[in-house]
Amino acid sequence: MGRAVIAALADLVLPRTCAGCGIPGPMLCPGCAALLARPCTAAPRRVPWGFPPTAAAGAYAGRVRPVVIEFKERGRVELAAPLGAALALAVAAVVSAVPGPRRSVALVPVPSSRAALRSRGRDHVRELAARAVTELCAAGIPATEARLLARRGRVRDSAGLSTAQRRANLAGSFARAAGAIAPPGALLVLVDDVVTTGATLTEAAAALASGLPPGSPPLLAAVVATTPRTPPDGPSRPDLQVVRQRVQIVRRGPLDRLSGQVNRD
Ligand SMILES: [Zn+2]
Repeated sequence: MGRAVIAALADLVLPRTCAGCGIPGPMLCPGCAALLARPCTAAPRRVPWGFPPTAAAGAYAGRVRPVVIEFKERGRVELAAPLGAALALAVAAVVSAVPGPRRSVALVPVPSSRAALRSRGRDHVRELAARAVTELCAAGIPATEARLLARRGRVRDSAGLSTAQRRANLAGSFARAAGAIAPPGALLVLVDDVVTTGATLTEAAAALASGLPPGSPPLLAAVVATTPRTPPDGPSRPDLQVVRQRVQIVRRGPLDRLSGQVNRD
């Protein structure tokens, strides 16, 4: 029996609820979906050296947290659709900040550790990346997925570690994937689900940058949600919005300010 059939049968038995607020209805109600349509600059409290310019679709707080956790840890794979659309929005936001002619975009998923893949039985970031590519292409932004990174060595669970401990834990844990070649001329955008301390994106960006030729465009990053530095009701980007889960972009100018150092390697 296929997964789609099982999901359809489960729908008959299990009432659907919003993964954010729990009200009966769609998997993500309009109110909770709107919380993931507020592109902002992701800026960890202490920005690590080498942290790439990063955009997030919303704040990792309140009703957004359970949505991400339900998708990531509790197997609600159908949330890949709205969360992938949110990731696409973040990608569009960070790409819009790059001056010059419009380029194609290559999404580079941050690979999970082998232990995490084993325990979850799936690569949730790749699921998000694949969905985001579909959304970006539908919005007229040429996009592909480029699996340029691999994990190496063993990394212990980062829960409860300080920023410095996380960096040390992750040092050297990413490498260029064997034989992987970056699409020529494309903007590389690292993608992940959530950014908190920025340690993971920083390490991943360092590994990615090490294989790029001089003069390559800056490495960028996009995530579904970021640890908020301002209240979730803070200012949002009026020129980007999700309409019926599609990214709609009205170009009014670049992001006001991007955090982190632009990688010029
Ligand atoms: Zn809701």
